[in-house]
Amino acid sequence: MPAKPLYAAVEAGGTKWRVAIGRSPEMVVDATIPTRDPDTTISACVEFIRESGIPITGVGIASFGPLDLIPTSPTLGFITATPKPGWSNTDVKGRIEAALGVPAVIDIDVGGAALGEWSWGAGRTLGSVVYVTVGTGFGGAHLQNGRTFHELGHPEMGHITVEREAGDTFGGSCPFHGTCLEGMAAGPALLARWGRPGPELRNRPEVWDLEARYLAQAMRTYDYVLAPQRIILGGGVMQQPGLLQMVRDRLGERLAGYGNPPSNLEEFIAAPEFGQDAGLIGAIALARQRFEGL
Ligand code: ADP
Ligand code: ZN
Repeated sequence: MPAKPLYAAVEAGGTKWRVAIGRSPEMVVDATIPTRDPDTTISACVEFIRESGIPITGVGIASFGPLDLIPTSPTLGFITATPKPGWSNTDVKGRIEAALGVPAVIDIDVGGAALGEWSWGAGRTLGSVVYVTVGTGFGGAHLQNGRTFHELGHPEMGHITVEREAGDTFGGSCPFHGTCLEGMAAGPALLARWGRPGPELRNRPEVWDLEARYLAQAMRTYDYVLAPQRIILGGGVMQQPGLLQMVRDRLGERLAGYGNPPSNLEEFIAAPEFGQDAGLIGAIALARQRFEGL
């Protein structure tokens, strides 16, 4: 029986890239490459895969954005206009394919992470899942039977409108919208509102009470608009102990018994299973889906 195909997984992040090889969450030869200019970074990534000596049949890439994911676009798979110096209009997918001579598939990092959780983690067996990450930015993906829908690009679940919570006078930190959800509740908003980054605010209950209230507003919107079976809520900010449960409690209040409220908020709002490995595992899941129809 021929050996099952192996894939390279690339998590292309704004500060670091990770590369590994495998076909499931158990991967081998894992490398971390600091993100420099595109030439240096992509070359280092390709060299690492070549030097492993392991034959691969394709590459899955979960990348920072914004990405052009419009199926009919001539620049499909390009990083488009990014504030990250030197990276605008970079054909990440095409350059990796050309250098390795195998096909690649690319998706936005949060889309990949969502697919990884759906394939093997906290979204297993569910038909409709939302995956949200609260970190430097606020990203989200919605999967329907393991598929995302990118006909007009990827969703921007962080830039939705939230109403100002009582007692909050913060002006918001989103460069586009000021007080949108990301501007009020992502990591940089915590820093700007309270003068310290999330990890240094651990013992300030008022910080996390307010954070949970904004996140609960978002969870209600995702629930009402998409009616998912589960919302997986991850990212650096969610590492604050107890925050996930506070979001569940506030969501319960916000739903006010209306609609199709999930009977069990513990199962409805769940932590991801893959944490820091979500992007890499997501990249493998992207490759399996594209090349094997998983
Ligand atoms: P990124 O979004 O850059 O990929 P992360 O998901 O790790 O990375 O999110 C980074 C953000 O999370 C930063 O704003 C950081 O201050 C915040 N953060 C990291 N750890 C914690 C923590 N334990 N508690 C609260 N916030 C945290
Ligand atoms: Zn915004």
